[in-house]
Amino acid sequence: MARIQFMNTEIDNITMDEALDRIEILISQNNSSFVVTPNVDHIIKLETGTELRKIYKNADLILCDGKPLIWISKWYGTPIKEKISGSDLFPRLCERAAKNGYKMFFLGAAEGVADKAAERLKKRYEGLQIVGTYSPPKGFENNPDEMSRIKTIIKSTSPHILIVALGCPKQENFIYTNRIELGVPISLGLGASLDFEAGVLKRAPKWMANHGLEWIYRIIQEPGRMTKRYLVDDWKIVRLVFKYRPRRKKGENQI
Ligand code: UDP
Repeated sequence: MARIQFMNTEIDNITMDEALDRIEILISQNNSSFVVTPNVDHIIKLETGTELRKIYKNADLILCDGKPLIWISKWYGTPIKEKISGSDLFPRLCERAAKNGYKMFFLGAAEGVADKAAERLKKRYEGLQIVGTYSPPKGFENNPDEMSRIKTIIKSTSPHILIVALGCPKQENFIYTNRIELGVPISLGLGASLDFEAGVLKRAPKWMANHGLEWIYRIIQEPGRMTKRYLVDDWKIVRLVFKYRPRRKKGENQI
């Protein structure tokens, strides 16, 4: 597969359709696989997060989520084919799941959000089997009883696909630590995707997303959390862009 080195991670340089095909292969292999979707925020967290780096190294599929990373890859001279946002991948995956009979479980988001998303997706994709949803209470990750409850619920429904929407790095940690015990063929950490499908958050219009302006929309809807993310933390990407810039070998032409 076309896996390339990009900044502080590797990325599978594939299209959305190829990613969906690959996910189906991973489901058929039934090997507790998992997918991560790096965006600018993840790249910054990877820089200092040893655990997150280990998780990324073990991911079966690493998809590029975000226009800025596409721009950087072009500037590096190793262009990434397509932006595959988790939130774009999610409905496409539901469509395939409905068509091919894969059962899905949604974990995460605020109370009622996953149910609402499930209800709307089932209407859109006839035959879609969402075998369970669960919104874990705050602090669940430090509560052994709650953790064991979550795992029991997921295992009892035997999904083929587990969607974990807990934000980064919580969702990646959950998947990585529990995937063998859960035995779900494929798990994906998909951030705010359930909020988008439930209609709790609105996606930016396509033209904005295609011009790397989705962050403006996120800030308008969640000013507190998103202002810090996009206007304070994400600036750190500038230093990393230069840090990981591929060095040209002697004798190679300069652009
Ligand atoms: N979330 C959750 N439990 C937690 C922390 C977060 O259910 O302990 C949910 C939150 O409700 C939201 C999602 O995780 O639905 C956060 O996604 P974020 O906005 O970070 O995702 P991204 O911007 O990466 O898509």
